[in-house]
Amino acid sequence: GCGICVHKCPFNAITIVNLPEELEEGCVHRYGINAFVLYRLPVVKDGMVVGILGPNGTGKTTAVKALSGQIVPNLCGDNEDWDNVIRAFRGNELQNYFERLKRGEIRPVVKPQYVDLIPKAVRGKVRDLLKKADEAGKFDEVVKELELENILDREIKQLSGGELQRVAIAAAMLREAHFYFFDEPSSYLDIRQRLRVARIIRKLADSGKAVLTVEHDLAILDYMSDIIHVVYGKPGAYGIFSQPKSTRNGINEFLRGYLRDENVRFRPYEVSFTKKSERKSQEGEILVEYPRLVKDYGAFRLEAEGGTLYVGEVVGIVGPNGIGKTTFVKMLAGVEKPTEGEVDWTLTVSYKPQYIKVDYEGTVFDLLSKINAGKLMNSFYKTELLNPLGIPDLYDKKVNELSGGELQRVAITACLIRDADLYLLDEPSAHLDVEQRLAVSKAIRSLMAKNEKTALIVEHDVMMVDYLSDRLIVFEGEPGKSGRALQPMGMREGMNRFLASVGITFRRDPDTGRPRANKEGSVKDREQKERGEYYYVS
Ligand code: ADP
Ligand code: ADP
Ligand code: MG
Repeated sequence: GCGICVHKCPFNAITIVNLPEELEEGCVHRYGINAFVLYRLPVVKDGMVVGILGPNGTGKTTAVKALSGQIVPNLCGDNEDWDNVIRAFRGNELQNYFERLKRGEIRPVVKPQYVDLIPKAVRGKVRDLLKKADEAGKFDEVVKELELENILDREIKQLSGGELQRVAIAAAMLREAHFYFFDEPSSYLDIRQRLRVARIIRKLADSGKAVLTVEHDLAILDYMSDIIHVVYGKPGAYGIFSQPKSTRNGINEFLRGYLRDENVRFRPYEVSFTKKSERKSQEGEILVEYPRLVKDYGAFRLEAEGGTLYVGEVVGIVGPNGIGKTTFVKMLAGVEKPTEGEVDWTLTVSYKPQYIKVDYEGTVFDLLSKINAGKLMNSFYKTELLNPLGIPDLYDKKVNELSGGELQRVAITACLIRDADLYLLDEPSAHLDVEQRLAVSKAIRSLMAKNEKTALIVEHDVMMVDYLSDRLIVFEGEPGKSGRALQPMGMREGMNRFLASVGITFRRDPDTGRPRANKEGSVKDREQKERGEYYYVS
């Protein structure tokens, strides 16, 4: 039974202060001998958005399969009977839910994690797909809220990642169901779109539906959830759902790496958002002064102000989708030639593109050792980069067989082990879970500080931008038409500029210092807007 498994599981991989004995009863599903085991489940409640916060590979999808009736939880034995499941959850909030599920009264709808796969399964125009899904009679409303008007007549296969994401969310919303699951709804979206999605998901719950969501952008998870579960364990081996927690408290406990009710420490360090000293202009050694650059694609024109980059700093790049961030980074990387201005520096640049191409036949180890074998053996790189990103576990895998998140981590590593003066990383958080995002942010900061190098990071996750950046380059303009990159500025000024253009205010959590989005029209939101304080640096 599960008891044996609990002892066999490599619990020493994480520090579990006291191994909860009652876990055995909470054993929900096991895929087979020595296979993944899931303990406990999240609650599902009408009228509530329940958020799930945890690493990939800890059973979130498995839990959703159980809650949507796609699998009958085997209770870690050979169970195939819903009655036993109902009995196992007696006295639990899920008892009634499983009774309804057994009677066929629950209809689940799932917005899948990998929206990139949709064009392989669905053909035709956006309008036809959404009309067919529209059981709730909310076509016009949902199309408007998700800003899909302009792409209704486009073919599914022509859509960008961000467009596919919004179409997939719309299709799920339009169905008439009891239980809605949104698996990573923020991928490929910019901050404004993420908050719109969060609001429309909240509205669904407000209309009485039960909503469950997995989200790795903590500001968004915070904004949309009523309560959350933290999932902890060892990815690929076992996962445990925590008790439900208030959203604020659950996220804070997650950042501290310690779950109080469970008495479990699952990370050796705390994540803190203590104030970084604001970089003053004309301070420190200059890396480079880059000139004003223009790129004209005809339909789209980018104009980037010239600016100065300093040695040892990390500069965040923020702005909506389609505003020219990737184009700017490509010009600095020498991949794209400017229409006006010239990048004629002697700096060496290491660049991680937004969309990672895989045309390599060998293993991860082959690839990385070709780039810089010495760094793989270097103990600083091992403790600061390779181990925190879980790279050694991937060494024997073939590069062209990696999952999205694995490939992202390998691409980030490949970028950071190159010897260069300037590192350019375009959307490093895509496909990564929160733990990995934090590990990547920490690694970038410590490598730049230790090696006295400079990094530019394009990023939509506000918490990550805050955690990473010394200064910001803000992009403004009209997405898809024209963009303007401002010169690098301090965090306070930059965040204010950026968030004012989006119309969102953030406050700081008093305990952890993490940024929290204010609800639109709340007292804090109105006060901050009046004062022009969209974002608190300290
Ligand atoms: P998450 O959604 O948290 O990323 P999943 O529930 O998808 O996690 O998967 C948890 C673990 O269970 C993974 O290690 C996965 O490989 C494993 N797993 C998922 N489905 C099966 C299956 N049908 N048979 C065996 N193992 C599985
Ligand atoms: P972001 O990274 O901010 O999302 P991009 O730099 O990728 O923005 O794109 C900005 C605009 O330039 C978009 O409208 C995009 O369609 C257009 N664009 C990008 N690359 C090309 C290209 N090679 N030819 C024509 N248009 C392009
Ligand atoms: Mg881009």
